Amino acid sequence: MRELRKDPVLGRWVIISTDRGRRPQDFHADYDHFAGFDPQHDPFREGQEHLTPPEIYAVRAKGSEPNGPGWQVRVIPNKYPALGIEGDLNPRGYGLYDRMNGVGAHEVIIESPDPYMLLSDMPLKHLIEVFSTFRLRVEDLSRDSRFAYVLVFKNHGRDAGASLRHSHSQIIATPIVPKRVLEEMYGAQEHWKNKRRSIFVDIVDQELMMQERIVYQNEEMLAICPYASSSPFEIHILPKRQRSDFRKASAEELSALAETVQVCLRKWRGALGPMQYNFLIHTAPNDTELSGVRQYFPMLDAYYCWHLEMFPRIAQTAGFEWGTGYYINPTPPEDAADFLRGIKVEIS
Ligand SMILES: [Zn+2]
Repeated sequence: MRELRKDPVLGRWVIISTDRGRRPQDFHADYDHFAGFDPQHDPFREGQEHLTPPEIYAVRAKGSEPNGPGWQVRVIPNKYPALGIEGDLNPRGYGLYDRMNGVGAHEVIIESPDPYMLLSDMPLKHLIEVFSTFRLRVEDLSRDSRFAYVLVFKNHGRDAGASLRHSHSQIIATPIVPKRVLEEMYGAQEHWKNKRRSIFVDIVDQELMMQERIVYQNEEMLAICPYASSSPFEIHILPKRQRSDFRKASAEELSALAETVQVCLRKWRGALGPMQYNFLIHTAPNDTELSGVRQYFPMLDAYYCWHLEMFPRIAQTAGFEWGTGYYINPTPPEDAADFLRGIKVEIS
């Protein structure tokens, strides 16, 4: 099979090429996450709170003191932030080159007090706390008028960009709306201009109708291997209800999202073995002067929908991808979804 497929949101083409004969077992990973790990020196474990900057927020047992034990989920500033929280943007130009101060927020969400607890093994109740914390922090950071966008993401494993083994995710608030999100917004706006429909609602409807790329679904969420997947076993989780903003996700939606992520992570592990991965949550930009949303996307709520994208780190990005922005994916998403559907997992 050799096929060019156009991503209906981004307008980007991907090459689905199975000539390389990559079956799920060809990707099988035996990544040992805890090789050489010494929990004694783990700054994220319970009891070592003094090794991190003071906490911003924590889900805590009643009566426990901040920056001490007794927490379930803990949010701290990144010790080595990509962007700094203090100061103004002060944008300026040097001839044709633009620059501004590196103002933003960079937080770490420590997902469990237990150094050996992986996100995929966490009890569902705990995972719901993690996702509720994501929403709470996005909500809080989006109130800062200097920030145009807040991104939640997770790197699991060294190749996926994680420097510490203890399970954690990150949040970065930026003064600029990321290019990828802008591309999604423009794509969705174009679809809406032509059809007066949300492209995300259309995708959910069509995937439910075709039943070819569904990995898992519940009342509120749909997990699919997207039609124009850029990498093997990529999964997108979409809410079944059109909602532009992750901040407005209901408690039911957050629980359903946590459940879906748990199922997908466990199916991945069943299919591919222990491997490294990334996920991220895309949502509408902050409704501030700076983001330009009100000016350029006044109808965004009607056609943009928040979602979660997850990528196993099993394929290498090569020169062709860097040079063209196209991706070559050796596993048709229909095959990946079929394989993942066949992996039975427990929700717990
Ligand atoms: Zn996205």
